[in-house]
Amino acid sequence: MTPKEVIARAHEAGVAIVDLRFVDLLGTWQHFSIPVSELSEKLFLEGAGFDGSSIRGFQHIHESDMILIPDPSTAVVDPLLKVPTMSITCSVYDPVTGQPYSRDPRYVAQKAENYLRETGIATVSYWGPEAEFYIFNSIRFDQDSHYGFYFIDSEEGIWNSGNDGGVPNLGYRPRFKEGYFPVPPTDKLQDLRSEIVQNLIAAGIDVEVHHHEVGTAGQAEIDMAFKSLTRMADQLMMYKYVVKNTCYQKGYVATFMPKPIFGDNGSGMHVHQSLWKEDQNLFFSPEGYAGLSDLARWYIGGILLHSPSILAFAAPTTNSYRRLVPGFEAPVYLMYSKRNRSACVRIPMYSNNPKAKRIEYRAPDPSCNPYLAFAAMLMAGLDGIKNKIEPPAPMDQDLYELPEEAITKLPSAPSSLAESLSALENDHDYLLQGDVFTKDLIETWLSIKKKEVSEINRRPHPYEFFMYHDA
Ligand code: GLU
Ligand code: MG
Ligand code: MG
Repeated sequence: MTPKEVIARAHEAGVAIVDLRFVDLLGTWQHFSIPVSELSEKLFLEGAGFDGSSIRGFQHIHESDMILIPDPSTAVVDPLLKVPTMSITCSVYDPVTGQPYSRDPRYVAQKAENYLRETGIATVSYWGPEAEFYIFNSIRFDQDSHYGFYFIDSEEGIWNSGNDGGVPNLGYRPRFKEGYFPVPPTDKLQDLRSEIVQNLIAAGIDVEVHHHEVGTAGQAEIDMAFKSLTRMADQLMMYKYVVKNTCYQKGYVATFMPKPIFGDNGSGMHVHQSLWKEDQNLFFSPEGYAGLSDLARWYIGGILLHSPSILAFAAPTTNSYRRLVPGFEAPVYLMYSKRNRSACVRIPMYSNNPKAKRIEYRAPDPSCNPYLAFAAMLMAGLDGIKNKIEPPAPMDQDLYELPEEAITKLPSAPSSLAESLSALENDHDYLLQGDVFTKDLIETWLSIKKKEVSEINRRPHPYEFFMYHDA
C-alpha cells in the first residue's frame, strides 16, 4: 500500500486511532498513538517524534529525540483493540543526521537484506519461523515440587501435584507428554488456537497450520507461510502480539519463555531458511546429500561454525539454555542431519519439490529479537558460502543415543548465556561485514545481556533451597 492507500483504508474501515509501533533493542514492541486526523502523507515522509531516552538499548545516544517513520506496507487494522485502530510498524530515525538509527533492529535486518544482494550470491532470503509457546491459566511458585519450582494450575493441561486426597478425575486430561495431539475434548485449546489464527489472518498474516505441541500443559504452535527477512521479522512481532492478546482477552496467559517448566519440552523457534535468485531456489541440487546444493552445505557450515555467537542473539536469555538440553527435541549438538531432531540443523524431507528445499535451524527460541537473530543467521550463512566452510559430515543416527565417548567428542551448543556472550565477544567479524551490525550495537547488546547474567547469578534460586537449605 502507498501512504495514500493507507489513509483511504483507514477512513474506509472507520479507524479512529493510529498506533505507531517500533521494536526496541531486546525485541519488544513499543508504541504510541495518534488520532486518525493526524494520519497524513507528510507523516510518512517526516515521521513523528518521540523521546528515545527511556527505550531499552536506545538510551546512550546524546540526542534523546528520535523520529518514527511509518512503513506503509505494514499498515493493518488491529484485530484485537475495541476502539478501531490501525497499527503501523515504523523505522527509527535520528533527527539530527536524518539517517536511520544504527541501533534500530529493523534497520539491521534491512541492511542484511541489502548486503545479501550486494554479494551477488542471491537476491532474496526466505524465512519460516515456528514459534512455540505455552498457554497457562496461572502460574504459582511451589518450592516443594520435585519437578522444579513451577506448579501449573491449568485446566488445559495436567500438571497437578496429584496430592489432592481423593481419586483424581482423569477424564479428558492429557497424561504426561500425551497432549500431542488427540482431538478435543482432550485438546482443550482447539478453539483458542483457532481464534488466534482468525486474528492472525485478520492482521494480514498467511497461516499454514496450528496444533497442540508436545508439552503437556498447553503448549501450542502456529506456523506462518515463509516471507523475506524484514517482512517475516515484522510479522513475528505481530504474531506474538496477537497470540498474547487473544489469550489475555480470554483470561489466559501466553508465554514465549523458552523453558517455563522443568521436565517438559521447551518452546523453540526453529527457523526454516533458504536463498533464492529471483525464482530459483539456490539450496536445491538433486545430487547433493538430502537434496542440498554446495551453496546450502556451505551456508550450513557457516551457521554451525558461528552458532555459539549467533545464539547470543538467537537464544538470548539465561532461560534459553535450560531448553538446549538432551531429551526434549531441542538440539544440543552442532551437527546437521536429514533425519533427526537432536541436530542443530535439520533438512526437512517432507517434499521432493525443489522449491521446498530449505534448512531448519533448531537452536533459536522465541525470546529473541527476530530482526537481529535472522540477520545474524544470514550473515553466518553468507560467511560460510564466501569461505566455502564445510560442516562436519551429517549424522543420521539419534545423537541422544550415541555412546558416552562419542557424545563427548561432538561439538555442542553453548550451555549458558554467559558462554554465548563470550563467543560473540570473540567472534563477530562476520556480523560487521557491509556494516550490517555495528560495533556499538554489539557492545550495547553485550553489556545489557551480561547484566542479565549477573542479576540471575546474584540471586538464590528456589531449587537451591530444596538442595541446600538443610546443609
Ligand atoms: N519443542 C521443541 C524445541 O524446543 C521442538 C519440537 C518440534 O520438533 O517441533 O525445540
Ligand atoms: Mg514444534
Ligand atoms: Mg520444526
